[in-house]
Amino acid sequence: MTTLTTGKAPISIWDAAHAVDARRPRSLQSELGASDTICSRRAGYIVAGAERTHVGDKKAAILGTYIHKGLLEDARREYGWLVERSVTDGVVRGHIDVVQLDAATAARLPKRHRPVEAAEVVTVEDVKTKSARVWDRVVRYGPTAAEMRQVLLYADLLRTVGFADVPGQRYLHRLGPVDVQRIRFRFVCRDTGEEEIQEFPFDEWLAMQARWWVDRVLEADSPEELRRDHDGPGLSAVCDNCPFRDACWEGAVPGAPVQTVLVHDDADRAKALADYVRAHEKFRESKRVKELARAMLDDSPEGNYGANHLGWGGGNDKEDTDLQALVEKFEDADLVVPMVPDKDAMVAILRRAGIVVPRRKVAGQKTVRSIKVTRAKKL
Ligand code: SF4
Repeated sequence: MTTLTTGKAPISIWDAAHAVDARRPRSLQSELGASDTICSRRAGYIVAGAERTHVGDKKAAILGTYIHKGLLEDARREYGWLVERSVTDGVVRGHIDVVQLDAATAARLPKRHRPVEAAEVVTVEDVKTKSARVWDRVVRYGPTAAEMRQVLLYADLLRTVGFADVPGQRYLHRLGPVDVQRIRFRFVCRDTGEEEIQEFPFDEWLAMQARWWVDRVLEADSPEELRRDHDGPGLSAVCDNCPFRDACWEGAVPGAPVQTVLVHDDADRAKALADYVRAHEKFRESKRVKELARAMLDDSPEGNYGANHLGWGGGNDKEDTDLQALVEKFEDADLVVPMVPDKDAMVAILRRAGIVVPRRKVAGQKTVRSIKVTRAKKL
C-alpha cells in the first residue's frame, strides 16, 4: 500500500514530454513542410509566419513520435534502411521516414551505406502510428488525401532534386535526382502493434496535383483566402489541436459553436438547412439498413464472411458491487464502516488501499451484446 508523505500532488510526466516537444524543430518552423499539408488554411498560416496561439492535446502525437523513432532506428540498425532523410527544393521541405534503394542506386553508394537487401524499385515509405479506434478504417480505406499528398511530395522532391545537401547525408545528395517508382505506407497500431502495409506505384499526375495544392497556398495573399479543409473545433480533432484555431475562427461569440461565423445571411442559413435535411435523410436510410443487417446477423456465429469479420462483444453476466461483502472487507481490514454504508466512498477507500472490490452477478441480467465488424484478415 502506498503512503502519501506530502500534500503536494506528484508532477505529471507529460509536462516534460510537452516541453521537449515544443522545442522540436517541427513545432517551431515557419517553412512549409510536406507534413503540414493537412489543411490549406493552416498551411497558409505557417507560410505567413502567423503566431501559434493554441497548444492542443499532443499526447497521442508524442506517443506516436516515440514509437516512430524507436522503430525507425531499429530498422536502420538491422536492415541498413535509409531513415529520416531530408529533402527540399527551397519551397517545400520534409523528412522522409524511409527510402528503400534499388540495387542499381545502392551500388552507387559507398559500401558501408548500402542496405542489407536492396528493394525491387526505389521506394519512399512513410510510417504512421494509428489508434485502435481508427484502425479498421485505416486498413479498409488506407491513407487520407493529406497523407497521400505528403508522401507524393516527398517522392516528387526526391525525383526532381534528390536528397538535400545537408550534413550527414552528403553521400546521398551526390546521387542527384532519384527515380522513385513506388510509395508505401506502413501503418502501426499504437494499441496492438499490428502492422498494415499499403503500396502504390508513383503516379506523376497525382504528384502534380500535390504540387498544385502547395502552389495555391504559396500564391495566397493571406491565409484567410484559403479553404478551411476541416469543420472546426468541436467537430474536428485536427482543428481542436490546431495552433492557429483562434485566428481561423475569429469572431465567434464566446459560448457559441465557432461554426456560427460561417453564417452571414439568410442565403447561408438556407444552404445550411438544406444540407441538414439532405444529411438527415441519408442518415435515416443508413440507420434503417444498419438496423436490418444487425437484426439479421443476431444468431450468426463469429467468423469471416466475404470481406468482413463478424465478432461479438458483451452479452456477459452483469455485475455490480456486493455491498454485504464490502462491509465484511471493511471489518476484516479494521476500517470504520459508515453508519449509512456509502457504496461509492467505500469502493474508493478499498481501491486506494489496494484491496479487491467484491463484485456479484446480478441475477438474470446480461451486459449489452454488441456487434464488431472489422475487415477480414487476408490469408
Ligand atoms: S482550425 Fe482547422 S480549418 Fe482552421 S486552419 Fe486549423 S486545421 Fe485548418
